[in-house]
Amino acid sequence: MALGNFVRKVWLHNHLLHRLNSSQIRLLNNRYAHAIIASTMAIVPLSIVRGLVITASVICETAGFNDAALWFMQLQIGFLALAPLVLNIYIAVHWAVRNRLSQIYCIALSISTLMIFRRILDNNAQFFLDISIPMALVSGIIGNVLQEKVSKILLKLHQWKDNNNITVISFFTTLAIIALFSSIIKLGADNELNSAMHFFSSLSLYFYPTDFLHGISYVLLRSVPWFFGLHGYYLFMDIDVAFTAAAKINISDWHNGHGALNILSPVFYDMWCNSGGTGNTLSLIICILMQKKSTHRRLLAVSAPMALFNINEPLIFGFPIVLNPVMIIPFVLTPLLSYFVAYGATYLDVIPRISEIVSWSTPGPIKVWLASGHSLNALMLYIFLVIVGVLIYRPFVKNSLKQTSTENTDLDLLTGEMKIHQPTDFEMVPNYSHVVEENSYIEAQLQIEKLQTSGKFILYFQPQVRLSDHKIVALEALIRHQSDDGKITPPVFLKYYERTGLMPEIDFWVMEHALSYVRENMSEAENMAISINISPQTLIDYRLLNVVRKVLAEPLPAGWKLEFEITESQKVQEPVRVAEVLEKMRNLGIKIALDDFGSGYSTLHYLTRYPLDKIKLDRSMVLGLAKPDGFNFLKQVVKLCTVIQCEILIEGVETAEELDQVKSAGIELCQGFLFHRPLPGKMVCQLLTEQRTKELQTASNLQPDIVSEGKPCLHSRPDGA
Ligand code: C2E
Ligand code: MG
Ligand code: MG
Repeated sequence: MALGNFVRKVWLHNHLLHRLNSSQIRLLNNRYAHAIIASTMAIVPLSIVRGLVITASVICETAGFNDAALWFMQLQIGFLALAPLVLNIYIAVHWAVRNRLSQIYCIALSISTLMIFRRILDNNAQFFLDISIPMALVSGIIGNVLQEKVSKILLKLHQWKDNNNITVISFFTTLAIIALFSSIIKLGADNELNSAMHFFSSLSLYFYPTDFLHGISYVLLRSVPWFFGLHGYYLFMDIDVAFTAAAKINISDWHNGHGALNILSPVFYDMWCNSGGTGNTLSLIICILMQKKSTHRRLLAVSAPMALFNINEPLIFGFPIVLNPVMIIPFVLTPLLSYFVAYGATYLDVIPRISEIVSWSTPGPIKVWLASGHSLNALMLYIFLVIVGVLIYRPFVKNSLKQTSTENTDLDLLTGEMKIHQPTDFEMVPNYSHVVEENSYIEAQLQIEKLQTSGKFILYFQPQVRLSDHKIVALEALIRHQSDDGKITPPVFLKYYERTGLMPEIDFWVMEHALSYVRENMSEAENMAISINISPQTLIDYRLLNVVRKVLAEPLPAGWKLEFEITESQKVQEPVRVAEVLEKMRNLGIKIALDDFGSGYSTLHYLTRYPLDKIKLDRSMVLGLAKPDGFNFLKQVVKLCTVIQCEILIEGVETAEELDQVKSAGIELCQGFLFHRPLPGKMVCQLLTEQRTKELQTASNLQPDIVSEGKPCLHSRPDGA
């Protein structure tokens, strides 16, 4: 017992689950996996409605309204046919949002690719809706990935002024490429294509549950594809159709006194491997309910009533099973074990064979009661297997919830609290669980919508000061949200944009607006830099170079420089590409600063890997000064930065004592509340005007006849520039 416990704790929790959690993180960051899960989620409502329509049909049939029952049945067939198309369209929408492309063009491309593929695979293809989920998925991804590549190449080849042009041209080029290659494949490899199709349909024979072993593969087919959000049923729909027809004949023959009943039938699977939905998720629901502090109560309110009718999509996506290598284990294991037990019990005549066709959406115990010809044994076995399911799910649910509870604490950051834990990078969060991502992705979308409808974004600027003469030499643009009632929120909301991959939108917006503000209002100030925070997501966005070229097409006021702050508190993906991008930025005359150096996830190799002009030391260095070796440490860091010939700025200086120490450590630039807080543009303009007036006064004291009175920087330049 003790050994069993030890093995369970050490091996299951520490080793296996930990490893699986890490692989989940990698998966979640995979764009293709993301596209699949995002689009399969889109067909969830369709599946739910379909389930309800089937239930309505069964109720009508039972009540004797046969016409209505037939009508509902046909309606559900329509929904079934629609699912692949909806999926295909949703992949396109996902890609369009991700790459900020026109949704209409992406959808058109996705559908066109689907039509082309459909045509080459089947010479007689006439009915467009006669498509499978895998084909819809594959064509959506191929079409859109190709279009993305084509756009990138076109962008490299030509400096497009108009975004519309590139969209139209890449759309037609991609379509032409797909059509051309498909025709070549069709003409040159028709036989191979046919044998591939043949192989695919023969695969379905393997899953057809004719006997015990094939029955196992059918259980796996129904559960494993859920890892990618796919109902296994959709993959080989013909199996289900044939299986149902065969079972109907077998049962009706038996009722007519011919032959024996089969053990396996669709109802067998629905009874034993589908209680509460695929994966016997009724047990999962009970398990979640048993947890005292479950964060999923709200989810259960929606999914539990549906699970009574064996519809579990909200649960599968909400808890979730999709792309979750941990939860998929009990999700496959539970129905598999039920299959073994129920098959054995039926084989040994402990429970009777199924003698009635009952709809899959009938609540579990009623279905068992009816289909088994009112067998108490079958009912007891059902309850027993639900309990066994709970025991299997339990350690996995506990593990997931343990991770959720530590993470969820900062889900509602938008309450106005000033403390900022961002930037938040999921990849860097240890023990990160998919539950958090799923919930917070939806949460993030809601928050973004709320932000965008309840106010506007504005810019604040925080001055950076040269310590030798206390002059403002640069401004960092910092985004704020201003609600309709005037409340200004610090950028706690950025985490929502990060989660949804929309940081480039923020950074491009800030870049454009900060530069035009500088041009319009600060042209009097000279030898300044405007510093923009660039998130790692933006650094690998293929539009960056073009946007930068566009915003720099109009020159900055004389003596102004653009500076990008890249933060090291997020893990930079694609470091080689980032280094290339930074080099290109530098060639355009942009200074590169490394932000928050010395904070949480410091990686020293950034200093040598990337071309840098400036290092911004994080406020934690200032706070560290209170510790015994804090000052020495700071001095060593300054030395290090000097070796690599970078300017050094320290952030977050709040007191005069801190300033003294910072100065004696040899730092020349400072950004902190002691000098200036982040301020609205107008106030910064006033500061710059005062600074300029002082400069002019000093100069006029030296050379009284040259300089006239300084103009406020809110005025435009005399030459109108
Ligand atoms: P950051 O780039 O390191 O910006 C400096 C942050 O430190 C600012 O917080 C500023 O208010 C704060 N700060 C400056 N001096 C002091 C000080 O003396 N004491 C203390 N306690 N804090 C000080 P803010 O504006 O809330 O921004 C937080 C972070 O949000 C920024 O850190 C930056 O990473 C991100 N951020 C802000 N605006 C943007 C943006 O437009 N784009 C991107 N990508 N990130 C942004
Ligand atoms: Mg910054
Ligand atoms: Mg910083």
